[in-house]
Amino acid sequence: MRSDGEILNEKVLVSGERALSAAWFERAQLVLVEGVSSPSRGPVNYGLPVFMARGSGSRIFDVDGNEYLDLMMGYGALVHGHAHPVLLDVIARTASAGTMFATASPLEVELAERLVEVTPGIEQVRFANTGTEAVMVAVRLARGLTGRRTLVKFEGHYHGWYDAVLLNGHPVLPHQLGDPHDPIPIPDSSGLTPGSYADTRVAAWGDLSTVESLLSDRSVACVLTEPLMANMGVIPPPPGFLPQLAELCRRYGTLLIVDETVTGLRLAPGGAQQLYGMEADIVTFGKALGAGLPVAAVAGRTEVMSGLSWGRVLHYGTQNAPQLGLAVARASLELLLADDGKAFAEMRRRGDRLAQGLAEAVNEAGVTAITQNVGPMLQLFMLTDEAVAAGVTEIKDFRDFCRFCDRDRFRRFALAMIERGVYLSPSAALHSIVSTQTTDADVEFAIAMAREAAQSLLATT
Ligand code: PMP
Repeated sequence: MRSDGEILNEKVLVSGERALSAAWFERAQLVLVEGVSSPSRGPVNYGLPVFMARGSGSRIFDVDGNEYLDLMMGYGALVHGHAHPVLLDVIARTASAGTMFATASPLEVELAERLVEVTPGIEQVRFANTGTEAVMVAVRLARGLTGRRTLVKFEGHYHGWYDAVLLNGHPVLPHQLGDPHDPIPIPDSSGLTPGSYADTRVAAWGDLSTVESLLSDRSVACVLTEPLMANMGVIPPPPGFLPQLAELCRRYGTLLIVDETVTGLRLAPGGAQQLYGMEADIVTFGKALGAGLPVAAVAGRTEVMSGLSWGRVLHYGTQNAPQLGLAVARASLELLLADDGKAFAEMRRRGDRLAQGLAEAVNEAGVTAITQNVGPMLQLFMLTDEAVAAGVTEIKDFRDFCRFCDRDRFRRFALAMIERGVYLSPSAALHSIVSTQTTDADVEFAIAMAREAAQSLLATT
């Protein structure tokens, strides 16, 4: 048992005892594939997955009674942490009047109006349930509107598990990458037919000249990009890249889809588009939009979005825009926008401090690592010997990530953090997140535990 009362307002209890998690895992493996509902939650990352029982604010509690500071925050969905009282109240009030109608409803109008107000360049919205779905609609819409087939995506970007975008999203060995101007297309899954991604081209992110050569024959319907790489740790875009990409797309009649599934309603009211001063043709939202309920959206100018009108590009969905999700999304947005968006500034400030503090703590403990963050999203990159010898101070792209990041060491570090009461994803390709409920004391606690976790790594290697 550990008590860190001097650092924390509340006690963190980590007995390290996982007997009940182990029992649940045994039972789970009989009826759930790998004992979980998504591979990233399973034994490949965690060894023994920790079975969670409840959450409150910045904390989650497992079935054995251990308490953790949650820095994973539902892979970014939980922008207000767990069980926020305002959202709980909204859930109770909404649910008592019916959770979903699958009809027109005032709530969807009100939420769409708010999104249009805060998001650069959008006039209309269509709701969906997950980021994957929103991207699927966006790509089909772009193809339908342009009458073109080809989709360009970037290596190291993830846009959900839809076949046409499931290429070059996993880290590989450097020699498997191919020429940076002509990356080797690598499907990320079995079960994809070659036809499903035959119209997908992959480019290195930041490489405008390759994008231009792909766009120049005017067969490209859309370029799909994450505005910052959030699925290879955290890698910001090269300066000026996004506005230049938007301009290039305009020149060749290609639609630019910016996938704000992770960044939307997290970095600023207007997401990464606002931060980087650009406007896409189509924007997708997910994760933080629903603050823990499955709400996603695709949005754009009316001339683009009207392509989804009946008889044109098809998008259906029984579960689109349910009352419960919409009500929570609307209330969450109001919380974020209150006091001139103070919540965004606070999350940014704490994200900066956590990133800086983690890097210092880990390096002082003798493990060479760098952190990169954009506001509340951050990742610690454990450097390989090759990176240390080369004096690497920044991970600039997917190729740097594949060459210079010691993913196994990061995994062991993350598991050592979990042992110390700080829950984060053991995948180096994901990232940690500061929510509106993460306090300054939480940040200092995570930094203190990072020092210990890094020391423990050295002791065991
Ligand atoms: N786009 C991006 C940028 C993502 O990071 C993710 C999920 N991590 C998705 C789309 C897919 O979202 P979902 O898991 O809600 O389908």
